[in-house]
Amino acid sequence: MGTKGKEIVKLKVESVVDLLNKAFADEWLAYYQYWVGAQVAKGPMRGAVVAELNEHAQDELKHAGMLSTRILQLGGVPVLDPADWKALSNCGYDAPTSPHVQDIVEQNIKGEQCAIEVYNHLLGITKDKDIITYNLAAEILEDEVEHEEDLQSLLEDMETVKKRK
Ligand code: FE
Ligand code: FE
Ligand code: MG
Repeated sequence: MGTKGKEIVKLKVESVVDLLNKAFADEWLAYYQYWVGAQVAKGPMRGAVVAELNEHAQDELKHAGMLSTRILQLGGVPVLDPADWKALSNCGYDAPTSPHVQDIVEQNIKGEQCAIEVYNHLLGITKDKDIITYNLAAEILEDEVEHEEDLQSLLEDMETVKKRK
């Protein structure tokens, strides 16, 4: 932990770490939801859907890494026990119990919309107070907005396929 780097944060550092750890738990759960969803998905446009789910899974894992780096910079410790992920998370975990591509995509859209709210909220809290966390949240938010759009486009394409039948 860098002492000066921590000193310039104009917020209670422990509460920033707590927020980062909650987002960190979200990212791991999002990662797994995408990853396992890609494994079980069945239905129309399966290839395109699975490719998108796997891509997003990798992005969520990257987000977890970015959050962990910042948590450590601030003198915190990233959540060490996966058993704590659900309780800490903002967005929870939606198990893909229906393997239908459309159900999986819809569940993941909900997750993305929750993630967008989480990072937008973090931006509001850190604005002008913790520039590094602010920039990190903005970078992740950009990905989550893209994720939502990608999935909604997939849903639209599925609807188009249905209508033509
Ligand atoms: Fe993410
Ligand atoms: Fe995402
Ligand atoms: Mg994508």
